[in-house]
Amino acid sequence: MSSQPDKTIEALLLEKRQFPPRKSFQEQANVRDPSIYRKADRDFEKFWAGFARELTWYKPWKRVLEWKPPKAKWFLGGKLNASVNCIDRHVLGPRKNKAALIWEGEPGDQRLLTYRELLREVGKFGNVLKSLGVRKGDRVTLYMPMIPELPIAMLACARIGAIHSVVFGGFSAESLKDRINDQGAKVLVTADGGWRRGNVVPLKKISDDALSDTPTIEAVVVVKRTGQPVGFDPKRDRWWHELMAGASARCPPEKMDAEDPLYILYTSGTTGKPKGILHTTGGYLVGTYATTKWVFDLKDEDVFWCTADIGWVTGHSYVVYGPLANGATCLIYEGAPDTPARDRFWDLVERHGVTVLYTAPTAIRAFMKWGTEWPEKHDLSSLRLLGTVGEPINPEAWIWYQKNIGGGRCPVVDTWWQTETGMILITPLPGLTRTRPGSATFPFPGVRATILDPAGREVKVGGGYLAITRPWPAMLRTIWGDEERYVSTYWTKWSRDVYFPGDGAKRDKDGYFWLLGRVDDVMNVAGHRIGTMEVESALVDHSAVAESAVVGISDDLKGTAIAAFVILKEKKSGPPAAGLHDELRGHVAKKIGAIAKPDKLFFVADLPKTRSGKIMRRLLRDIAEGRVLGDTTTLADSAVVDTLKAQYEEKEA
Ligand code: ATP
Ligand code: MG
Repeated sequence: MSSQPDKTIEALLLEKRQFPPRKSFQEQANVRDPSIYRKADRDFEKFWAGFARELTWYKPWKRVLEWKPPKAKWFLGGKLNASVNCIDRHVLGPRKNKAALIWEGEPGDQRLLTYRELLREVGKFGNVLKSLGVRKGDRVTLYMPMIPELPIAMLACARIGAIHSVVFGGFSAESLKDRINDQGAKVLVTADGGWRRGNVVPLKKISDDALSDTPTIEAVVVVKRTGQPVGFDPKRDRWWHELMAGASARCPPEKMDAEDPLYILYTSGTTGKPKGILHTTGGYLVGTYATTKWVFDLKDEDVFWCTADIGWVTGHSYVVYGPLANGATCLIYEGAPDTPARDRFWDLVERHGVTVLYTAPTAIRAFMKWGTEWPEKHDLSSLRLLGTVGEPINPEAWIWYQKNIGGGRCPVVDTWWQTETGMILITPLPGLTRTRPGSATFPFPGVRATILDPAGREVKVGGGYLAITRPWPAMLRTIWGDEERYVSTYWTKWSRDVYFPGDGAKRDKDGYFWLLGRVDDVMNVAGHRIGTMEVESALVDHSAVAESAVVGISDDLKGTAIAAFVILKEKKSGPPAAGLHDELRGHVAKKIGAIAKPDKLFFVADLPKTRSGKIMRRLLRDIAEGRVLGDTTTLADSAVVDTLKAQYEEKEA
């Protein structure tokens, strides 16, 4: 069979299990009327304007959308302030003394901030930033642990019209320096350190290394978090607590244009050099507000916990802007899920009475590997809704989550979106959608998505490339400083009005969307284009497997061979049972067909992941093909690839 590199991706896995919303959930859900999809589709501008009207504006917009592909402007002429929408408007009403943030540090220390207290802190830090010379449009880099000062600093920037750029606290000095220089930041806010697995991450020290070559930085504000000694440059560095002590809490908000920038955030770098994604104020706030309200079904009584680090877009949209715009109570946790023990998450859920939990497949697969004894130690009955984001979720991991964490009673929302989209785009609505494990189901109302083949023809049923065919309010406006890359990366695959997210997907005969992984990772085996996700899911379907990564590697005979890297569930210890190797290969063949049977299969202890926890398959390909490793700067733990490399070479010898 000839290879057809442009052939549409095959759909192999058939998942038949279905979960309709339970009646008791449906009855109380924020969205219950299925006709909302039709109504929103018929007039999507009107639909989004409806949510926009629930927010607070200084001046109403004149036009909902101006779409000159590939450039969109939303809520033109409207004026608002994001911090006012996240705080002030609640302080003016009955939420004034409601908990906005419940925070717990890794060592177990706690803080609670009501909306009123949050307003005072944000006002004070807004004034601090002004005293350091920060003006509207200036960039402020935030390199901080998961402590309340991080959302406070973000909202303070939003209040005075500065553009914040959060750099995840796990990044190196080099990555921090590159990002500071890319955006030309004036001020850096950091901390002496943060807690991670009982150790201090020396953020100030890393910052000092980064700042040796960052000409635009004028001042550094340092939060005292861990208390260990740090270097201090008296001309440049200031303590957060000293500046705050003298600052007034009254900080009149800047009246921002709907299209004024709110923040820059770099993508997590799974596929290569990170892109500085620019989000603006009005549309972003409307999109995150609406999706938080409907997808997470948020109510005033909820305790919402999105476990993502604020350094990623999930933390921006669903720890900070979306939930606070809804007046929710949010839990923030500083540390690792296995500190002091592997039940830390479940301990947090029980003690704080978490009702809605939003986490990532990588975490769920780690919980699967550790076993059910950890969640079983805790009363998780406060939970009423579960969410996932970040990677495709394997059906078996979905079922595990639904059963062992959700007690079989909570709806699970698998939400697809990206740094670039700013908000959830493909997702179930928990009171309406009959879910299927592994499927993100349908586009959010008002959003239009489809599946296209390389030539731009629509794939009604089957696999292909995901495409978004209509603008949405929280969409990125550009890549900071690189308009050309913005156009070429996202808007040239088909035509300039169709957004290309870079992900493969399939649609079943009922119209459900199933994400198949990144287009870059699709394997071309004997003329068949196979997504990594389906082979991985077939492996995770076996009761011994917790996680797997599959890549296509060049093979002298077949052209491309399938290599699978498998992590087993921990349990009864000892090496994998004899015969398991062939059993797993056979399991894949049985589940999805002989064409997808891995040619090589390796048992490994760990996989190369980005700092956001996503599997970096391109590095596995490099290892398996004996190449020099590509860009590894966004890798979470470089020791993992060294171990894998040694193991791989030994097997091959
Ligand atoms: P880079 O673009 O630099 O490679 P990244 O794509 O990993 O980094 P993010 O914007 O954080 O950075 O991740 C978005 C990607 O995560 C999506 O394009 C998709 O591949 C994956 N993803 C997110 N949520 C889901 C989901 N629910 N199902 C399947 N894939 C998902
Ligand atoms: Mg991406």
